[in-house]
Amino acid sequence: MNVKELEHEYLAATYGRQNVTFVRGEGSFLFDEQGKRYIDFGAGIAVNGLGHGNKKWLSAVTEQAAKLAHASNLYYTEPMAKLAEVLCERSGMKRVFFGNSGAEANECALKTARKYASDKGRGTDIITLKNSFHGRTMATLSATGQDGMHKDFAPFLPGFVYAEANGFEDFRRKCTPDVAAVMLELVQGEGGVIALEKSYVQRVAEYAAANDVLLIIDEVQTGNGRTGTLYAYMQYGVQPDVFTTAKGLGNGLPIGVCLFGEKTQSVLTPGTHGSTFGGNPVACAGALAVLEQIDDELLEGVKRKDAKITSVLSSCRGVLSVSGLGLMIGVECKNARDVMNRALENGLVVLTAHEKLRLLPALNIEDDVLDAGLSVLSGILS
Ligand SMILES: *Cc1c(COP(=O)(O)O)cnc(C)c1O
Repeated sequence: MNVKELEHEYLAATYGRQNVTFVRGEGSFLFDEQGKRYIDFGAGIAVNGLGHGNKKWLSAVTEQAAKLAHASNLYYTEPMAKLAEVLCERSGMKRVFFGNSGAEANECALKTARKYASDKGRGTDIITLKNSFHGRTMATLSATGQDGMHKDFAPFLPGFVYAEANGFEDFRRKCTPDVAAVMLELVQGEGGVIALEKSYVQRVAEYAAANDVLLIIDEVQTGNGRTGTLYAYMQYGVQPDVFTTAKGLGNGLPIGVCLFGEKTQSVLTPGTHGSTFGGNPVACAGALAVLEQIDDELLEGVKRKDAKITSVLSSCRGVLSVSGLGLMIGVECKNARDVMNRALENGLVVLTAHEKLRLLPALNIEDDVLDAGLSVLSGILS
């Protein structure tokens, strides 16, 4: 049987896959079984932020894999300790917990909020936003404010309250003494690449701080340079009590991290949380190589490339609007799925989010590769 036949026979049918089998990647190019080359505007859903086979990342992970691939959290290992230091120094947070995915990082944030409230003997509800996405586990699915994803999986974890995005009055009304935390995605990714308004986020942050309600920010997709700053909250002018990140930190290997600020750094105590794979030396060595490369020059490039993409696509006849922040871009057009399929036939990988096209190219995509991909896309959208 070939790959597609094996898949249909042996894999749970959870994914509607695009009709292509990728076998190799190099920078912002992917190659299929026949050796056909594609320009990659998807970066493995914002994971391969530095492209495929990034040299520094590759040597960090191969060297670490040869030395020690796993020891478990019963022992000290160096890569996770060093990565925790770099993450805290660059984010202003105090401590971290390592897991293996975005959902796990968010689980940790939600458990921390519940324990923070229970330690203080106060309400344990958590406000999240409508149209948000926080993961696929039962707790993160409960946090996710999309009815479509809730179908078929009741009962959910109690204690979640969904508020209108960008509606401060709705938030304030729902932020009763029962509430322990508010969790925000600063750019709703899966929900259609919609950036929250800065003034809204700042008002929520101020109100939360004044009422001892924790501000949790889900930077699973927006983090690690994707929006033009190391983390998106840095351009919103707020400092979270807890934030999570994953995708781009791994550049291809699974890693998730929950970071704690001043107020929350001592909430989790021995035995209250754990993960067998969490803080895996290979993934952490790779993540260190990723963070090392996210510098001012790369971040300036993200903003410059965003401006170019937005200007080229905004002038296409078939484009109704362009949204997002940095290299997290939503393109409103008719029949986004058809556009995605035609792009693939023409050697360009793009994604969708709800009814939009979604572009998440590598942060270091070369300008000529970006131009070539944009010309395929504007050809389809003109
Ligand atoms: C992808 C994503 C998640 C879930 O991450 P997984 O690694 O798939 O568990 C959670 N929150 C946001 C904002 C995401 O984009």
